[in-house]
Amino acid sequence: MKVLVINSGSSSIKYQLFEMPRSEVIARGLLEKIGEEISPFRQKSGRGEVEIKTRVPDHEAGLNLIIRSITDPETGVVASRNEIAAVGHRVVHGGEEFTGSVLITPRVMAKIRKYADLAPLHNPPNLMGIRAARKFLPGAVQTASFDTAFHTTIPDKAALYAIPHHFYHRYRIKRYGFHGTSHRYVARRLAEILKRDKTELNLITCHLGNGCSITAIEQGRSVDTSMGLTPLEGLVMGTRSGDLDPAIIFYLADKGYNPKEINNILNKQSGLLGLSGQSNDMRNLVALREGGDPRAALAIDIFCYRLRKYLGAYLAVLGRTDAIIFTGGIGENNPLIRTLTLQGLEGLGIRLDEKRNRLTRAVEGEISAPGAPIRVYIIPTNEELRIAGDAYEIASRRPGNAIGPAASKKRRRK
Ligand code: AMP
Repeated sequence: MKVLVINSGSSSIKYQLFEMPRSEVIARGLLEKIGEEISPFRQKSGRGEVEIKTRVPDHEAGLNLIIRSITDPETGVVASRNEIAAVGHRVVHGGEEFTGSVLITPRVMAKIRKYADLAPLHNPPNLMGIRAARKFLPGAVQTASFDTAFHTTIPDKAALYAIPHHFYHRYRIKRYGFHGTSHRYVARRLAEILKRDKTELNLITCHLGNGCSITAIEQGRSVDTSMGLTPLEGLVMGTRSGDLDPAIIFYLADKGYNPKEINNILNKQSGLLGLSGQSNDMRNLVALREGGDPRAALAIDIFCYRLRKYLGAYLAVLGRTDAIIFTGGIGENNPLIRTLTLQGLEGLGIRLDEKRNRLTRAVEGEISAPGAPIRVYIIPTNEELRIAGDAYEIASRRPGNAIGPAASKKRRRK
């Protein structure tokens, strides 16, 4: 079954076409700068690389371009768009309602629109992608995988903020958490690697990319995570502050900054960029630190200290931890960050094998010392594959498809 996975952002569409259940990527691509003068488009597949620079006014035109490229007689990978049986969409916010991936119906679309109130930068472009896919691939099953879904198991004691309770009832203010598909993917992968059932494992998963979050997973269920109502809370990130005293916002307001400016400062000008004054890219900061730059060194120290503090908190939350997983661009590739975060924690059962830590990059592998009570792993994230897996499972369960339970129920009723 061919499954197209779409990640539709405010001005970009990222996609991968999978052959399922083999989990084989047959094409992948990225369209950027939608709505600007020139929108660069790139696709890679077994039939070569395609690069186009053209004007793409909106997401609908964008998806049309992508489908034409996938089905192009010379450089495409499928003969007809009808071969695409399912489309899995990444959707950022599913509120408290969506606890797993679902078949997209008009009701589901209305809910995604409703939760745009909580994710105004993400849910509207996600919906644009869904609308375009329904238009151009009307025969395909459309599914949604939500970043928040994995965290709907977080108990109230970890999810609610200590503000008057009616704000939760009136506005649904609580910790939703994000990166759920990534945390779920790496946790499931580790269970596969260890040949254990996910319900036997307590894990701490660190997704460290441009956005960063850490999750405590007890017996396969997320029980706490560092991002909150929005992806601003928690760890230090590329340009986001993570945790801070909320009174800083009023202090800045008193100094003359308006809410929009403060929002922009905390989301776009803070984190590694704000601290270093130079870059939000960890690669640059590591190089600057090696060259003796004190601000880059400080930014890295603060990044690792915050992560270590959360790690300590989640070790206490879980009581017993089997493994810590690093993923995301920084988590997978950066030995220095892992060392600075975990060094000196032998008393807690964490011991890195420094050679393995240095040498393991962007591949699955254990980096803890043999015999350490808490094992440490690198597992490259693959949210697209998880979304494709969900879309495949949902499409397979549809009536009329011989392998799904819906089909077998029908047979039983007869
Ligand atoms: P992501 O959002 O997962 O793509 O991660 C982006 C972050 O990962 C940036 O801060 C990059 O500097 C960092 N990153 C990506 N590749 C490497 C690498 N090879 N070494 C160190 N950091 C990396």
